[in-house]
Amino acid sequence: MYAGFRRRRSPFEWVCACPYLSTGCTEITMAQVRQIAQLGQPVLRGVASRVSLPASDEVRTLVDDMLATMREANGVGIAAPQVFEPLAVFIVASRPNPRYPNAPLMEPEVVVNPEVMEQAEAVEKGWEGCLSIPGIRGEVPRPTQVRVRYQTLEGATVEKEFDGFVARVFLHENDHLHGIVFLDRLETTRDIITEKEFQARMA
Ligand SMILES: [Zn+2]
Repeated sequence: MYAGFRRRRSPFEWVCACPYLSTGCTEITMAQVRQIAQLGQPVLRGVASRVSLPASDEVRTLVDDMLATMREANGVGIAAPQVFEPLAVFIVASRPNPRYPNAPLMEPEVVVNPEVMEQAEAVEKGWEGCLSIPGIRGEVPRPTQVRVRYQTLEGATVEKEFDGFVARVFLHENDHLHGIVFLDRLETTRDIITEKEFQARMA
C-alpha cells in the first residue's frame, strides 16, 4: 500500500504511483479499512466542517476508505467523523447483511455537505444500531420521509427524497455530522436492547 502516493486514473480505479511505476508496475492499490471511532471519542461529539472541494482526490480517497470500512463492518451507512475525519461527508448504502437482514438493497449514495430541506410530520419508530456503539440497538423515532439537498463527488448539487429505512439511515448519518448519536434520539432507555436479542428477534 502506498497510501500517500495514490493517483486516480478513473473514478473507480487507483493506479499505483510507487517508485516502480517507471518499470511498468500497474498494481492497483486497494482502499484502506480505517479504525472506527467508538462512543466516548470526542470526534463523535463535534460538528463536522463543510467540504470545500467535493471533487478532490482527497475526498475520493476518504470515501473509498469509508466504503471499505463500512462493508467490512456490515454497516448500511457511515459518516466521516466515524473514521476520525470531521468532515460533512457520509455514505448511505442500505443492503441486506447479517446486521440488517431486512434492509432494502440500493446503490451506495455518497452525500457531501447535506441539508435537510423538509421532513414528514409522520414519525415512525425503527431499530437502529451504530458501528460506533457496538453491542446494542435502539428503537428510534424518525420522520418517515425527507427531502434533502447535497453535493455529489463530482461537485454537482442534487435534491432527492428518501423514505422508510433509507430516510432513517440518511438522518442517522446526518446526525453524526452534528455530534448526535441515535441514543440521543431515544424516547426512553427502555427502547434499548442488546445486539444478541435483536438478532434473536430477527431470526
Ligand atoms: Zn452511527
